[in-house]
Amino acid sequence: MTTLLLHHPATLEHKTPTGHPERPDRIRAVERTLAAEEFTPLIRRLAEKADTDTICLAHPRAYVEAIQEAAPDTGLVGIDSDTVMSPGTLEAIERGAGAAVQAVDAVMTGEVQNAFSAMRPPGHHAERTKAMGFCFYNNAAIAARHAQTKHGAGHVAIIDWDVHHGNGCQDIFWADKTVLYASTHQMPLYPGTGALSERGDFDTIVNAPLRPGSGGETFREAFESRIMARLEDFGPDLVIISAGFDAHWRDPLANLRLEAEDFAWATRKLMEFAGRHCGGRVVSVLEGGYDLQGLSDSVAAHVRTLMEA
Ligand SMILES: [Zn+2]
Repeated sequence: MTTLLLHHPATLEHKTPTGHPERPDRIRAVERTLAAEEFTPLIRRLAEKADTDTICLAHPRAYVEAIQEAAPDTGLVGIDSDTVMSPGTLEAIERGAGAAVQAVDAVMTGEVQNAFSAMRPPGHHAERTKAMGFCFYNNAAIAARHAQTKHGAGHVAIIDWDVHHGNGCQDIFWADKTVLYASTHQMPLYPGTGALSERGDFDTIVNAPLRPGSGGETFREAFESRIMARLEDFGPDLVIISAGFDAHWRDPLANLRLEAEDFAWATRKLMEFAGRHCGGRVVSVLEGGYDLQGLSDSVAAHVRTLMEA
């Protein structure tokens, strides 16, 4: 079976101010890494734009229209203190959501075994009605809802190992028993949510906060005991990964000490689970990761593992 890679040059046209960590060079670094010969078996496809109805699977129409109207013709416009729109942002975020949806389509129809969307900006901080933390549209949430509405998936699990808590996914799925959202993240850290006690209305929110300085051993223990254990009970039809790589030890925005091999380990765990429970169906969307070397090494380890399927 094969692995699908979604990408698009429009992702580089979402501009942020000089010195902003969420910058086009992130994707340039990922593209350079995935250009290596070992990645030639990937099926590469350009990301299409998601239409408004699809984005509205996770956001109210008024919010989506407000984002569309906020897009500037020139310069940068601030949406919150660290989330800005440039003239190219709207296309980038529509293709980011579209890539997640295309990944779901290809995996749910069995065309490919799994898929990775190498798009930016990330999405997991975007709440139903709030852009924040570099994020506008919640790609993982849109992907989960699309799997349900278009492909009849009953239960979908979103596993988030970005170093920041995905407050957006937690907000969107708080009162939804059909979507499990499970996250490892550093705490305390932005955005401040993600305590163990935050479990959702139906116990389908699973938070595994990690102390600053935690390394791979602590991460793996939490991933195994909190997330994998809960996943077994939940029985998803699709596993979506919010794949942020800012828990890497080199990352400047946080203080966890993971190595690329830890992300490969977690990828393998989820693939083994998916192989036993849901036909091996895994969709992975890029979230954070702000040290270019740490990001490149981690994406290589992640995608290399996905290709083992
Ligand atoms: Zn992050």
